[in-house]
Amino acid sequence: MKIGVFALQGAFIEHEKMLSVLGAETVEIRRREHFSDGLDGIILPGGESTVQGKLLREEGLMQPLKAAIEGGVPVFGTCAGLILLAKRLSNDANVYLGTMDVTVKRNAYGRQLGSFAAVTPVKGVGDYPAVFIRAPYIEEAGKGVDVLATVDNKIVAARQKNMLATAFHPELTEDTRIHAYFLDMVKGK
Ligand code: GLN
Repeated sequence: MKIGVFALQGAFIEHEKMLSVLGAETVEIRRREHFSDGLDGIILPGGESTVQGKLLREEGLMQPLKAAIEGGVPVFGTCAGLILLAKRLSNDANVYLGTMDVTVKRNAYGRQLGSFAAVTPVKGVGDYPAVFIRAPYIEEAGKGVDVLATVDNKIVAARQKNMLATAFHPELTEDTRIHAYFLDMVKGK
């Protein structure tokens, strides 16, 4: 199983470590030539979505990535990765990949609550120690979107077909269950 981890900017090394604990092979994607059809899954890490979006465009990666996701390759976006996947951003004019039928609010918790942790029940996973860093949340989810977790009535994890997204950072914990859930998606379970 080979998972492509976008390594343009942000917390990609932590995802790679998590995947290697679970026995998956990882490939870092920085340029067009790193992106191949042979990937079984894709991870879009947290970081700064504006920077990541700009680099995806500059490197000619936006279209091939979008096509792969639309073609059914499983993708897992965390935090900024969720922002890249969203079809709509409520407080930002940008749309990046626009493949997931959700409206996302960036930096949704304001300055005071910029970073926090909360144990959250996640559907299909169980209680999970969710770490939020200047996190977005999902304001609205379309019909085909399965809500997996909420915190204070805000959607913080969701799945739509081959797309999994969390507003929080499972890669910054020791708890591998959400990555294991994603690898089950990759295995077609
Ligand atoms: N605040 C970042 C953004 O809007 C996301 C933060 C994160 O990925 N931890 O892009």
